[in-house]
Amino acid sequence: MNVNQSAPPVPPFGQPQPVYPGYHQSSYGGQPGSTAPPTPYGAYNGPVPGYQQTPPPGVSRAPPSSGVPPTSTAQVPSGQGAYGQFGQGDIQNGPSSTVQMQRLPGSQPFGSAPLAPVVSQPTVLQPYGPPPTSAQVTAQMAGMQISGAVAPAPPPSGLGYGPPTSLASASGSFPNSGLYGSYPQGQAPPPSQAQGSSGAQPPQRSAPQQASSFTPPASGVPRMPSMTGPVLPGQSFVGPPVSQPNHVSSPPPQVLHPGTQMAGLPGQLPPMHSSQQPGYQLQQNGSFGPVRGPQPNYGSPYPGAPSFGSQPGPPQPLPPKRLDPDAIPSPIQVIEDDRNNRGSEPFVTGVRGQVPPLVTTNFLVKDQGNASPRYIRCTSYNIPCTSDMAKQAQVPLAAVIKPLARLPPEEASPYVVDHGESGPLRCNRCKAYMCPFMQFIEGGRRFQCCFCSCINDVPPQYFQHLDHTGKRVDAYDRPELSLGSYEFLATVDYCKNNKFPSPPAFIFMIDVSYNAIRSGLVRLLCEELKSLLDFLPREGGAEESAIRVGFVTYNKVLHFYNVKSSLAQPQMMVVSDVADMFVPLLDGFLVNVNESRAVITSLLDQIPEMFADTRETETVFAPVIQAGMEALKAAECAGKLFLFHTSLPIAEAPGKLKNRDDRKLINTDKEKTLFQPQTGAYQTLAKECVAQGCCVDLFLFPNQYVDVATLSVVPQLTGGSVYKYACFQVENDQERFMSDLRQDVQKVVGFDAVMRVRTSTGIRAIDFFGAFYMSNTTDVELAGLDGDKTVTVEFKHDDRLNEESGALLQCALLYTSCAGQRRLRIHNLALNCCTQLADLYRNCETDTLINYMAKFAYRGVLNSPVKTVRDTLITQCAQILACYRKNCASPSSAGQLILPECMKLLPVYLNCVLKSDVLQPGAEVTTDDRAYVRQLVTSMDVAETNVFFYPRLLPLTKSPIESTTEPPAVRASEERLSNGDIYLLENGLNLFIWVGASVQQGVVQSLFGVSSFSQITSGLSILPVLDNPLSKKVRGLIDSLRAQRSRYMKLIVVKQEDKLEMLFKHFLVEDKSLNGGASYVDFLCHMHKEIRQLLS
Ligand SMILES: [Zn+2]
Repeated sequence: MNVNQSAPPVPPFGQPQPVYPGYHQSSYGGQPGSTAPPTPYGAYNGPVPGYQQTPPPGVSRAPPSSGVPPTSTAQVPSGQGAYGQFGQGDIQNGPSSTVQMQRLPGSQPFGSAPLAPVVSQPTVLQPYGPPPTSAQVTAQMAGMQISGAVAPAPPPSGLGYGPPTSLASASGSFPNSGLYGSYPQGQAPPPSQAQGSSGAQPPQRSAPQQASSFTPPASGVPRMPSMTGPVLPGQSFVGPPVSQPNHVSSPPPQVLHPGTQMAGLPGQLPPMHSSQQPGYQLQQNGSFGPVRGPQPNYGSPYPGAPSFGSQPGPPQPLPPKRLDPDAIPSPIQVIEDDRNNRGSEPFVTGVRGQVPPLVTTNFLVKDQGNASPRYIRCTSYNIPCTSDMAKQAQVPLAAVIKPLARLPPEEASPYVVDHGESGPLRCNRCKAYMCPFMQFIEGGRRFQCCFCSCINDVPPQYFQHLDHTGKRVDAYDRPELSLGSYEFLATVDYCKNNKFPSPPAFIFMIDVSYNAIRSGLVRLLCEELKSLLDFLPREGGAEESAIRVGFVTYNKVLHFYNVKSSLAQPQMMVVSDVADMFVPLLDGFLVNVNESRAVITSLLDQIPEMFADTRETETVFAPVIQAGMEALKAAECAGKLFLFHTSLPIAEAPGKLKNRDDRKLINTDKEKTLFQPQTGAYQTLAKECVAQGCCVDLFLFPNQYVDVATLSVVPQLTGGSVYKYACFQVENDQERFMSDLRQDVQKVVGFDAVMRVRTSTGIRAIDFFGAFYMSNTTDVELAGLDGDKTVTVEFKHDDRLNEESGALLQCALLYTSCAGQRRLRIHNLALNCCTQLADLYRNCETDTLINYMAKFAYRGVLNSPVKTVRDTLITQCAQILACYRKNCASPSSAGQLILPECMKLLPVYLNCVLKSDVLQPGAEVTTDDRAYVRQLVTSMDVAETNVFFYPRLLPLTKSPIESTTEPPAVRASEERLSNGDIYLLENGLNLFIWVGASVQQGVVQSLFGVSSFSQITSGLSILPVLDNPLSKKVRGLIDSLRAQRSRYMKLIVVKQEDKLEMLFKHFLVEDKSLNGGASYVDFLCHMHKEIRQLLS
């Protein structure tokens, strides 16, 4: 069977292709949209029964104003107004663990509302914690006396609180970048003083935030390459590496471009000292694109600037030759070349095994039978026919799948096919769904499955005649016969309990403990939710969202709110029996926003007031998730919990945690425990959540260690997201938090999803990476899946593949849409198979390889010492490149490093993974930061991992001011920075502007509104809005970069030679890092050595 499709004529689907209005094109390179207009489809031929185009799910309204939400006091009535009935001190924060809360006799008014009913719950056996207080549920917020509970002592200050001791504390402040926020100390509220005191005294500010500062490396300290080990005789690296373009088909290329091969210098052995760059020839070599001349100021090192191989070493006959950084493969050049070569033409998916343009190239996709690379990217588009070949090459065979990827407006979202009651047509044996690769035979009465070869009958209602080529005559009228991606409406058979699902619900669960109140978080959040609730995801053209909402606040106890539309005021119900969580109300908890708007608004107005004087510092965590999950279960729907949480949950409850942060474990065999959850309770809870279709998004606002590794277990296993705002302060962080929250709430999500990847005979999916749960070896279960999440799937051979038939993948995602519709989204992809290794090496995609290898490594640290994980990566990379050298490259000097053309960036990118915070943390990186990044990377797509590991560095003042395109990037190395320029650096999470010390005064004035370099505030996070072309251009660029990313990047302005510069330099990934990460040049040498060892 041959699935090699020729590019078919454009499918004549007549309807305008549905688009997701209002979505930014996310993460597809930074260039403005291609000018190539989408080719309109011709007429849609005739009625096809049941084929309907459903408008896409999505939000078409504009997001809520991005304006600054009102500050805390602006719109909140004073205590004299609507909240006057809440006397001072009568705020219920839940009983302390030793004080039994009194239910007040009679009901008291909540606002002007009638009394709320009192619900009580019988005490049940409590498996955890102290003897049960009877489940206390009260209906009053007002009138509850703060009992004599003394504010608990602050959490034990253990290791990891405050900035690492290795950092000098200094006067300069250190902005919270999110990744590297330092923690202020002393988060406990002031001890409550007199019981009856007015309480009006504001909590004392905690100790001044201790600044972290980095000590710049002493210049002159000898640079020690991190890669040590003896250099074997004859293993000199004599000349820049050469990559071999793979345009010659098998047999392997035999010809090197004359002049690109740099022969070794005979007899010149490298010095046997590890700190030397052995014997490099100084070359301006053109084999990696045009010769790059020295850049302005290139080589004028700042203090601490790397200077490759220039240190004097031990006795040595010849001064070491310098390996020209311009002669080693440049990521910037590769990205630019791909943009120039492939950015103008649409990528048409009709041909099997085509390698798509790079993720950094902006291109349009035309689906002609294979899934768009926005949905699936593979490490190789040509798979070795045998497992022996695959083992020899060591190239991982993996696909990075983003089933619900958001598309640019020019591209159509998948058509929805409705086969009515009969449901989608599938193979009887392997259950694969009808797709363009199925072979119709016997005049169209049967079809042979392209995955398992089973012959199936075509049901009468689906019968169609074949044309002279054996194709069904209606092939181009049916998406499932002509497109790579499409959806089927699912029948009731695909639903839980054979019942169509109810629309999902969102539950907002807000920590109202002392820290959350003090930082201004609660007030900000409640204010924002009032408007954000108008932007819940909607299906297509729906007037309003089908999603219902509910609200919970909590500290050591939980407060549920009845916001039924018939109520004049919301009612609160307190559940203090956190050990045995139950939902105290069903009716009125989950409501339609529009129907209950007045009550919801009233609630959101009152929450910040109710808890304004709280002294409760302890929180619970697992019971909160449990409560949300139980509420969804009771409502018989799937949904999402939005948790806003501040502290390590130390209150007595299931899932209680202790501070176990210990930086001394780094680089020991026990380091892995820092990444593992400290209790199994959260896995158990996650499993229950997945069964209910309860996805958990966690927003963390820690002031100290909160054990992200444990708290993120449930989000991770339910397909949710984690956001972390260290040392959250409204004035510094509200823009970032609001932007993330808006994007997160508005995201289109598939709920209660199951994904299965089927393959044609010969390979099968054996491993999966991402945010999901698996209860068997094949089904990826996702309580929720949004358009940013990917699942990386690894394949292995289980039989011989066939060059003629190729290999097929089919990813089927069953999910519930935001409106409660059950659907199947199908993506198909055909790959080539080869018997020559050279074909494998010329059809690889390095960005996807790195995505897979990073995820593989980041999972590995859970079980293996970090060093083992790093060594495994290095070995695998060396094996991949050695296999190429041995089998595919033309004969050349052993001193020559030869890289496959499409893998020439593998070493530089792999080095970035190796020196990332997870695998090689610096002193400024906290345990929580590492756990956070680890779980983020797990579900990143290829574009995100690309920029995350190799940040974009853009010069801002080099290109003409009137130029509208993004300035060409420069390599992420200090050598590329000119002190007369300003640069922008971003990696998808962080955003910096670096200002050189000699920047022209006019430029400083235009951008910062001050007259000199020294007046620029270091650590500035907002550029002033100035009316001049440069200011507009730079602010516009920042906006467009932010729009491309799924998370808001907070800006940090860094001045040359300022303390903060060390933070910025951390992202100059081609340089040696402070914590010992190798420079690109050093790593390339090391890789060459490894390869030669393998070959010798
Ligand atoms: Zn089959």
